[in-house]
Amino acid sequence: MSDTLEERHARRMARKKTVVDAAIAKATDSHGLLLVLTGNGKGKSSSAFGMAVRALGHGMRVAVFQFIKGKMGTGEQSYLARDPNLLWDVCGEGFTWETQNRLRDIEKAEAGWARASQALRDPAYGLVVLDEMTYLFKYGYLDLDLVLAAMAARPPMQHVVITGRAAPQALIDAADTVSEIADVKHAFRAGIKAQPGIDL
Ligand code: ATP
Ligand code: MG
Repeated sequence: MSDTLEERHARRMARKKTVVDAAIAKATDSHGLLLVLTGNGKGKSSSAFGMAVRALGHGMRVAVFQFIKGKMGTGEQSYLARDPNLLWDVCGEGFTWETQNRLRDIEKAEAGWARASQALRDPAYGLVVLDEMTYLFKYGYLDLDLVLAAMAARPPMQHVVITGRAAPQALIDAADTVSEIADVKHAFRAGIKAQPGIDL
């Protein structure tokens, strides 16, 4: 009598488990990771803030630095601000096309970076999120080499997440994990305004 579908499935899954278990057994290293979330699709900052929640859930201390944006607070900020293990620092004053003041944007970016680089020297922070940081490189507000040097010198167990479109190649090269989120479709283009709980 031939095997049932269930028996074939169980055998296939047993083979798969051997492969998955072997791959997991090989990953024995543990150190602070640099993650880059880039691309034109929606989901970069919300993913980074999701990792902040994960880290806080493990009792880790987390610092979030929000560059460029600032005026409109997010749901994550209002909710997570209650956690004593979280530092949430709004460095920017808005999009470049809203502030329309290059020198003031640069001043804000530099002051924000001064505070962020302090967190990047502090082993008490298990995770540092540098939200929308890639735009600082794009507009020339901050030197990428300076940031890469700070990444290399940070505490060995500290994780860092950098978000923003068009991540420079040198940053991608330095990162351990890079995700490029593609813009397949966005409700905004169908005339839907930003929705609380989804977009902010
Ligand atoms: P989110 O914060 O929702 O994870 P994000 O960080 O990937 O988004 P940003 O470029 O920082 O994207 O823009 C944030 C805001 O712009 C959100 O309201 C988001 O829904 C919206 N947005 C993101 N990508 C697009 C897009 N391709 N077209 C239109 N609006 C977008
Ligand atoms: Mg974002």
